[in-house]
Amino acid sequence: MLWWHLCRLIRISLRRAIAKEFHGYVLKNRLSEEDITIFKTFYTAILKNTANTIVCLQTYFGDIRDVYTNVTSLDVDAIGLDFIEGSQTLDLVLEQGFPSDKLLFAGLVNGKNIWKNNYRSSLYVLDKLTGANINVVLNTSCSLLHVPYTFATETKFEESYRKHLAGAREKLAELADIADLTEKNTPARIAEPCFAINREIFSERIDVVQSDVQKRVSEITDADFVRLPVFAERERIQKGVFNFPIFPTTTIGSFPQTKEVRENRKNYKQGAISLEDYENFNKEKIAQCIKTQEEIGLDAIVHGEFERNDMVEYFGEHLSGFIFTNNAWVQSYGTRCVKPPIIWGDVARKEAITVKWSTYAQSCTTHVVKGMLTGPVTILNWSFPREDASIKDQTLQIALAIRDEVLDLEAHGIRIIQIDEAALREKLPLRKSDWFSEYLDWAIPAFRLVHSGVAAETQIHTHMCYSEFNDIIAAIDDMDADVITFEASRSDLSILDALQESNFKTQVGPGVYDIHSPRVPSEDEICAAIERMLAKVPQEKLWINPDCGLKTRGEKETSAALKNLVCAAQRMRSKFA
Ligand code: GLN
Ligand code: ZN
Repeated sequence: MLWWHLCRLIRISLRRAIAKEFHGYVLKNRLSEEDITIFKTFYTAILKNTANTIVCLQTYFGDIRDVYTNVTSLDVDAIGLDFIEGSQTLDLVLEQGFPSDKLLFAGLVNGKNIWKNNYRSSLYVLDKLTGANINVVLNTSCSLLHVPYTFATETKFEESYRKHLAGAREKLAELADIADLTEKNTPARIAEPCFAINREIFSERIDVVQSDVQKRVSEITDADFVRLPVFAERERIQKGVFNFPIFPTTTIGSFPQTKEVRENRKNYKQGAISLEDYENFNKEKIAQCIKTQEEIGLDAIVHGEFERNDMVEYFGEHLSGFIFTNNAWVQSYGTRCVKPPIIWGDVARKEAITVKWSTYAQSCTTHVVKGMLTGPVTILNWSFPREDASIKDQTLQIALAIRDEVLDLEAHGIRIIQIDEAALREKLPLRKSDWFSEYLDWAIPAFRLVHSGVAAETQIHTHMCYSEFNDIIAAIDDMDADVITFEASRSDLSILDALQESNFKTQVGPGVYDIHSPRVPSEDEICAAIERMLAKVPQEKLWINPDCGLKTRGEKETSAALKNLVCAAQRMRSKFA
């Protein structure tokens, strides 16, 4: 066993070395001379003729260690620095100095997360800055776009929870509080009582600890991150078990969330219909969805995800340790908004989450039904995380909870399980040199922890979208899933080169059409996409699927598109078989 672990360690280091080599850069800490020259050229041009304008250069999402002196020597009136995510910001300012003719906009209130500011820490930083004779303006660490407007109107949880939270409005009040606390002649209105309240808030957080969860995380061993047998062996076994044709077809999981589907959920939540009525409606939708897929001729079929409001909120609702809001909306993209759940304390699975729906779906058909889960990294990345526990530990707790669900699905006869990691890339550090050490080194194992306990005959799928994958492709392969589907059609299938060059082992379904448009792709067009894929991906590794879930589409166009997809796969089969 020890020998085996050693081999694995070597393999991981090799893979990593190859990943770095392959992408043609040595992971580095600093910007290159060329980057810095570009920076200087741009800012010289931007700042030309601004003598009569007050200019503040605002930075955020970390410290500016690579260009600190370049920035402080610019001809601007003020500079904004992030003291929350910028782990080195205070040291930079104190060690390298800050120009006395400029204002420092000190980002002390977190613009990205929703916890109340700890005034003691903010005052500590302010004390250091004023001690160095720096002219400070109090600021948030970045724009307030990432946090909800307010928590003042929330009724889903009690004051004992709410008092720990700060939305955009509360954050502005915090800036005013901190200003009052630092005034020499503190207005009696606030300083001492406000400081006392803040101290109290930081000393008591209820319902946080689940010691059995913490114990479980502490007992994870290296072997828990490893699925056996190895990929090649599983691939061989699964080819025999599933007996799919070449170019197997599937979808990413959700089917159209029509008005009726949303209304059914709303009626149930508002108490207008019973749980039984609510579930019966969903079961009917599942049965129809399965029938449609059988008629169309898809190979690995899905239940349609009609029971889900959102791929993260739905799972959070079935896990202990999360709290939810009525109205804490934040922008996802464009006009689409989400209500990220809040990770309040230690996380564990309270009950089976999807087993009922997946087993019902499987009971409707002899085809294999794919179970559908959201992965731990995505759940973490699309929630507001705790600040009193590491991101890694929180992810591992969620991973154990989802692992329980995976094993439960398997025990109930579900033979393919998809664990979506749509947002895997979201917390990738800005500095490439930190990619592995601060993120991928635990995020990728956290995914493996979720599926390492299943049998060789159980096929694990994953899905990714919303980002550029080419530069982390080796890390993605190291997730050790059996099949991965990608959103790829909008990036003009550029991912194919990366797959080929990295010798990607995982079977792969780069989406053959873009689901973000109602346009129905023709069979010819899908065949052309498959031909392009076959130039780079071995035919025995290729799956045929849309590039993301179908929930935002209409039913008619979805059926038409999937019919063309299956016909295209059939045509390619007869050409290549
Ligand atoms: N399984 C989810 C769905 O089909 C995946 C969503 C996503 O990739 N964002 O909707
Ligand atoms: Zn997707």
